[in-house]
Amino acid sequence: MRVRPTRARLPLILSSLLAIGSCLPVAARAGGVAFLPGIHRGQVAPGAPSPDLLTWQLPDGLLVVDRVAAPGHTRCGPAFAASRADADWFLVRDRDPRHPARAVDAAALARFGTVRPAGATAWVVEVPADRLPAFLAAGFPLQRLPLEPPPAPLPASSAAPTPLAIAQVDTALKRAFIGTLSQAAFNQLIQEISGYATFFYAGQLRQVHTRYFTTASKNLVGDYLAARLAGYGYAVELDTFILGSVTCRNIVATRAGLSAPEEYVVVGGHYDSTSPILYCETTAPGAEDNASGTSMVMEIARISAHRGFDRSIQFVLFDSEEQGMNGSEHFVAEAVAEGRQIRGAIIADMVSWYQGTYGLHIEGEAAWEELMQSMAANVTAYTPCAYVKDYYSWGSDHVPFQQAGIPAFLAIDYDYEDYPYYHQTTDTWFRIRDTVPLGLQITRASAATLADLAGLRPDLTGAPPSPPAPSRLAAWPNPFNPRVTVAFRLAAPAAGDIAIYDLAGRRVRALAGGELPAGEQRLSWDGRDDHGRLLPSGVYFCRLHTATESASLKLSLAR
Ligand SMILES: [Zn+2]
Repeated sequence: MRVRPTRARLPLILSSLLAIGSCLPVAARAGGVAFLPGIHRGQVAPGAPSPDLLTWQLPDGLLVVDRVAAPGHTRCGPAFAASRADADWFLVRDRDPRHPARAVDAAALARFGTVRPAGATAWVVEVPADRLPAFLAAGFPLQRLPLEPPPAPLPASSAAPTPLAIAQVDTALKRAFIGTLSQAAFNQLIQEISGYATFFYAGQLRQVHTRYFTTASKNLVGDYLAARLAGYGYAVELDTFILGSVTCRNIVATRAGLSAPEEYVVVGGHYDSTSPILYCETTAPGAEDNASGTSMVMEIARISAHRGFDRSIQFVLFDSEEQGMNGSEHFVAEAVAEGRQIRGAIIADMVSWYQGTYGLHIEGEAAWEELMQSMAANVTAYTPCAYVKDYYSWGSDHVPFQQAGIPAFLAIDYDYEDYPYYHQTTDTWFRIRDTVPLGLQITRASAATLADLAGLRPDLTGAPPSPPAPSRLAAWPNPFNPRVTVAFRLAAPAAGDIAIYDLAGRRVRALAGGELPAGEQRLSWDGRDDHGRLLPSGVYFCRLHTATESASLKLSLAR
C-alpha cells in the first residue's frame, strides 16, 4: 500500500501515556482495546491514521485499538481484560448515529457478551463466537474492532509514498461524461431492488422484498447486478466470504486502466439491507439504505463502460454492511494482502432523501483532505447541492479503506439523521420518490470525482450502453391490506386488459380492459372479486395483456 502512512508519524503523547499504562491482560488475539477518558485523537495520533493503531473519538474520551502491542499492554493505556480466546470485539454506541432517536438498551447487550463502558455514550462488547450470529442479527449500531494484526507492509521498493495525483480533467469533458447519467435509469434500479417494480433476470420476471444478508433474494439481486455489469463489458468477480454460516458475496467489476493499470480507483456501496429482526428476512426494502447508493454505483459503471481511464476502475457492491461492514472489510483485507494499489475509494450510502437541505455530507478523515476536496469542488461545479465535510468517519464502507490507509470518503445525504424510515420495513421507493433527484446530483459529483481520480481520457467517446427496459407493472404496498395500487406502462395505446388471477389461474377480478392508453396509468384493487366478495389471504397475480405485451406481478394479500 503505497499510501499507507509511516509509523514515524505515530504519537507524540504516547511516551507520556505509557507512564500511566498498567499491565492489565489484553485481548487474546493480539493487541488490546483501551478507553482513555478526556483524551482527544489529535493528542494520540496526529496526521494520518495508522493500520496498527486505530482510534475512535467518543464524546468523553478516545477508544484505542492497538493491534500490534505486546500481550499485556497497549501503547496508550490499560487495556480491557479479555475473558475469552474466541471472542470478537465491538464498539456499540448508545444511539444509532444514523438514527439518533433510537436508543440502545445496555441490558440487552449483556445477553450477548461481556460489556464494558467506554465513557457515558458507548460500550465495548466482547462477544464469544457461539453468540456472534445472534448479536449481529440484533441490529445494534456497532463497529467491529479489528484486533488481528494488520497485514505486513509492502517491501520498501514498492511502498514509497506517491502523491495522490488527482488529475484536472477538462471541464467540458467532465460535463459531457456526467451528462450521460440518466435519472430514469437511476430511479428504475432503486425500484427494482426495493420491491416496487419487477425486473427480468435469467428469463423470468422477478420481484424482491428484502436484501437481508441471509436471504435468497439478496443473492438474486447480487446475480442480477453482476449480470448487468458483465453486460456492460466489465470483468466481474464474485468475491466470497463466510459470515457465521452464511456465504456472502461482494460483486466486483473491473476494467484495466490505459496508462497505470496497476493503480485502482474504487466506486462502491452496499447492496444488502435490513429491517427489524422479526421482518428482515421477508421485508427489508432498503430503498434509501442502500438501493440509492447501489444505483449510484451502477449508473456510474454504466456511463464509464465505453470510456477510457488512465487508472483501473473498480465498481464494488458490498455485502453484509448492515452486519458491521463485513464486505468492505473483506475486500480491503484482500486488496492489501495482494498489494493492490487502491488510490482512492468513493463510497455511497443513503443518497436520495432530504428534508430541509438539498445536500450531502462528505465524510472522511483529515489525512484524505485532497480527495474530499476534489469531491467538494465537483459538488460546487456540477450540482446545485450544499455540502459539509465531516472529519469523523463512522459506520459505513469507507471506514475499512481509511483504516488500511487508503484515501476514501463517504457520500451521504445531508439530512440522513432525520430519515424516519431508516432500517424499517417502510424504507420504500415511495419515501424517496419526491427527493430522488438529489441522488442523481450526488451521482454527478461522484462521477466527476472518478473522472479526476482515475484520469478520464478524452479520446474514447463511445455512447454508454442502455439500461434494461423498465418493467411494465408495479404495485404497492405489497404485501397489502386492504388495498393495493397497480401501475402499468405502455409505450403506445393498445387494446388489451389487466386483471387479477388466483394461484389456480382463475381470473377473479377485471381491473381495466379495451383501449389502454400510453404512459403510466394507475389502478386500485380492494382485494374483492368481480362480485364484491372479500377474497382470502394469499398470493394473487396481476396480469397485463395486449397484442404485443404481457407482464405479470405477484401480489400478497395479508388479512
Ligand atoms: Zn447503509
